[in-house]
Amino acid sequence: MNRIEVYKFGGASVKDAEAIKNVGLILQSTPQRPLVVVISAMGKTTNALEAIIKAHYNDPANLPTLVDQLKVYHEDVARSLLHGQEQSLLNDLHDLWVELNWILEDDPHPNYNYHYDQIIVFGELASTKIVSAYLEMQKIDHQWLDARSFIKTDSEFREARIQWEQTQSAIDTFVRDALHNEGMVITQGFIGSTPYNESTTLGREGSDYTAAVLAYALDASSVTIWKDVPGIMTADPKRFDKVARLEEISYNEAIEMTYYGAKVIHPKTIKPLQNKDIPLFVRPFDQPSLFGTKISSTETHFLPPIIVVEPEQVLLQISTRDFSFVAEEHLSEIFNHISRHRIKVNMMRNTAVSFIICVKNETDKLDKLKNDLEQSFHITMEVGLDLITVRHANQGVMDQLRRGKEIILEEKFGDTDRMIVKEWK
Ligand code: ASP
Ligand code: MG
Repeated sequence: MNRIEVYKFGGASVKDAEAIKNVGLILQSTPQRPLVVVISAMGKTTNALEAIIKAHYNDPANLPTLVDQLKVYHEDVARSLLHGQEQSLLNDLHDLWVELNWILEDDPHPNYNYHYDQIIVFGELASTKIVSAYLEMQKIDHQWLDARSFIKTDSEFREARIQWEQTQSAIDTFVRDALHNEGMVITQGFIGSTPYNESTTLGREGSDYTAAVLAYALDASSVTIWKDVPGIMTADPKRFDKVARLEEISYNEAIEMTYYGAKVIHPKTIKPLQNKDIPLFVRPFDQPSLFGTKISSTETHFLPPIIVVEPEQVLLQISTRDFSFVAEEHLSEIFNHISRHRIKVNMMRNTAVSFIICVKNETDKLDKLKNDLEQSFHITMEVGLDLITVRHANQGVMDQLRRGKEIILEEKFGDTDRMIVKEWK
């Protein structure tokens, strides 16, 4: 067999019939086989399913409307893609909705994260069914596979960790066989299953990571993530005027960027690829002839400043009740709470009488953390902040970024400058 390639198409690239036709064109025009194609849920389906899950707990009267919207969205796309030949696809989709309704007719499970994963997987299952039916109509050979049969995980629902040995051997069996027979596999990103065949997910936007896991296990020659951007940019074009595409960056640079919050690829994606030296391409699905960005082991020198903004940050200032020093034993107590609530600390600083952390404003997690900490500490909270990270900064860029903002906290380490800021009103 030739070396395998892995493609990943995100939600935006399958959001409607036109988008799915474009995926078909890309798959038809690339001669590359064997090819594994990982696909996300259509458009904003995962958010819509999250609303359904919340409604199941808090607002069940609203469930029929929400589920109906989801059905109509998928069935409309199915009809306009397959005009006239959609019956068997509609039957497949119907089976999925029946299964979903079974879950929703029961009481919601007491374990929210478990329940979430049993429901959220329907987005990926439905989208891949639709793409697969369209490819079949286009006579593009492939086999549809349920990723839960080979992405094997632990039971950390909503943030499941790959069980590498089981995953490797399942991929060797199911995926290699299908590739051997059909040349191409269509499967879901993001979803997996426990040894007890319960559904799990790898964290929001986790499809990129699925593509990397497959590439690792299959010793792929490359991974291509098809996106609605020209490649990896020096900053978010929605926020900044003068942004440029990065032609090539190293794995290490990509790891740094995603660690600091760059949203182009899921942070866990790079490591498995780096371990096997598999290059990753980020390319625009609306201009498939363009090169995009290449991420590989080649170290790049003289990179321009790269800016990552994480909005909606909160600064928590934690001090002892008697205003004595915050000592090491306090820190270990503080971090116990932080890790128990699975909160990611984006920046921290200790001062004489307080310990300061900067975290994302996720209200439910933060409320719990604050409650716990208030048993022993005095807490103040400042909301509405941005965390700006600049790699390879220069004076000009930093001056420009500081303009019009109050700088709350600033730090520089190696090639990375960071600041927590507040817009002047
Ligand atoms: N559909 C999932 C999400 O929106 C996973 C993904 O797209 O990567 O988070
Ligand atoms: Mg997505």
